[in-house]
This record gives sequence, structure tokens and C-alpha cells, in this order.
Amino acid sequence: MKTSNAIYPGSFDPVTNGHLDLIERGEKMFDLLIVAVLRNTEKQPLFSVPERVEMLREVTKKWADVEVDVFEGLLIDYARKRGAGVILRGIRAVSDYEYELQMALMNRKLEPRLETVFMLPGEPYSYLSSKLVREIAQHGGPLEGLVPPVVEQRLRAKVS
Ligand code: ADP
Repeated sequence: MKTSNAIYPGSFDPVTNGHLDLIERGEKMFDLLIVAVLRNTEKQPLFSVPERVEMLREVTKKWADVEVDVFEGLLIDYARKRGAGVILRGIRAVSDYEYELQMALMNRKLEPRLETVFMLPGEPYSYLSSKLVREIAQHGGPLEGLVPPVVEQRLRAKVS
């Protein structure tokens, strides 16, 4: 059943098959799923925000109810602006839990009407992260099954 507009926020540097697994699940649940790339001035990203957005648009274009956008500042302000009542986040392992709990509870304190929904990815993606993908790419390792082919090409070009 579709219930609401949801935001799936993150760095997506770059988008992985784990993110896509979550997007596919979320797309079935919500009227509109907004994948929102955080413009974070503190982190040193591998891909620029426009590059990340371009890759996300390419790999999500098959889903009509998925939109890719960029945001900065507080997530609750962005959610309000977009009329979204749900934040979608993924939990891979216990190690994700502490940080996600802290974020979800702080967002609830700031905006009690905003609900955070957690989803588990399929098992093959439960140990997959953008950080590991970047490291594998930087050392010329195999990326098949970890990222979509278009992202693999962009990674190879970026580190060559
Ligand atoms: P951040 O930099 O905020 O951790 P990411 O782009 O790495 O952003 O991840 C965004 C969200 O997607 C987070 O909730 C993260 O836990 C989740 N996520 C990332 N990789 C996976 C994966 N392989 N399976 C499920 N969820 C994932």
C-alpha cells in the first residue's frame, strides 16, 4: 500500500546496488520517493554532487515514482519544504544502528510529525557500502554486482 511522500537522504558517493535495493523497496511503498543527495561541505567526496545526481538519475529512471534531488541544511526543513512525512534509511548491520538511532531520535525531537522508517537490504548487500566500493575501485578490484555498470564505468574513469 502506498502511503506518503518519503525522502531517502544520503551521500550516495557513489550509488551502490545496496542503495538501489532500498530504493526499489521504497518505491513500492510510497507515492513518491525523493532520493536526496546531501550537499556536505565537510566531507571530501570522490564524485561531485552533480556527478552523483547524474548517476542516480540514470539508474533510477525506470521508476516513475522516484525523483532525485539535492538538499543542504537540516533534513527536517527539507522534508517540510517537500511535503514529506517519512525519512527512509537503511540498516545493514548492528554497526549502523547506533548512528541511525541517534539521527532518527534527534529528527523526531526537532519535528515530531516526521517518521523515520528503516529497511533492511537483501542479504548480498548487507556488507556493501560506498566507502568499500571506492576503496576497491582505487585498488583496481572487481566491482561486478556491487554497483550498476554505468557507475562501474564512472568509477574506473575517475581513479585511472
Ligand atoms: P551516509 O553518508 O548518510 O551514510 P549513504 O549514501 O552511505 O549515506 O547511505 C544512505 C543511506 O543508505 C543510509 O541509511 C545507509 O545506511 C543506507 N545504505 C547504504 N548502503 C546500504 C546498503 N548496502 N544496504 C542498505 N542500506 C544502505
